[in-house]
Amino acid sequence: MIDYLNALLQFWVDSHWVVALTMAVVVNIAVYVCTAWLLSRLIMLIVEHHSAGELIDNRLLKKGQAKLEATNGITACIIFAVCSLVSRELFSTLWPLSVVDFILQVACFTIFYESYSYFVHRLLHTKRFKKVHRVHHQSVRVTPWSAYSVHPVEALFIGLSAPLFMMIFPLSLGMALVLHVSGMMFTILLHSNFEYTGRNMLIKFVLAYPCYHSTHHINGNVNFGFVNKWWDTIFKTLKVSSTHDP
Ligand SMILES: [Zn+2]
Ligand SMILES: [Zn+2]
Repeated sequence: MIDYLNALLQFWVDSHWVVALTMAVVVNIAVYVCTAWLLSRLIMLIVEHHSAGELIDNRLLKKGQAKLEATNGITACIIFAVCSLVSRELFSTLWPLSVVDFILQVACFTIFYESYSYFVHRLLHTKRFKKVHRVHHQSVRVTPWSAYSVHPVEALFIGLSAPLFMMIFPLSLGMALVLHVSGMMFTILLHSNFEYTGRNMLIKFVLAYPCYHSTHHINGNVNFGFVNKWWDTIFKTLKVSSTHDP
């Protein structure tokens, strides 16, 4: 499996940029569409059977919301793919060279991205970028498809995070891929509009994040963070939405 992935990564690195772009578009759209579709179906099943969870916001979706979100999301995926061509020029090695290297890459990228996403999100809420970020906030009651329903400029901010990081710290291509795909899946989960009401503490902890982010969509200038709440706590932009909030 790892040999196959290595061969695929090496092929992507060596191939003509048109081939590399096509491959990156396919991967980004596949991750977005499959994760959003599967999560939507799963939530629908759980809510319909009144088992272990309910919707955070029960209002009806706006007319044409689903189609608009999917169109914007696929456009964002194409922009992420273009940005990945920049990463192709900047990565250090295919994979981390040691366990220490692996830990350093994950830790440093996490600290960087938590800060980058918080401050970029604050910037998007300023007057200058209001029009840009309005596209994402058109989704008040969010769905998994809302995750990447963003203006192309906002998609560019997201897509350039890895290349920017690579300019200041060595990041392997494999880790960049793993972090990007898991980041996409987590962002889709953040927009699931699902509140877990079961008793499993671990699931409760993980599924508390959608409440945190839904509160941002409902209230506006609160909960700007991605995973951690460091910056929200420091800048007093944290709003606890329910007892299940992480
Ligand atoms: Zn926002
Ligand atoms: Zn959002």
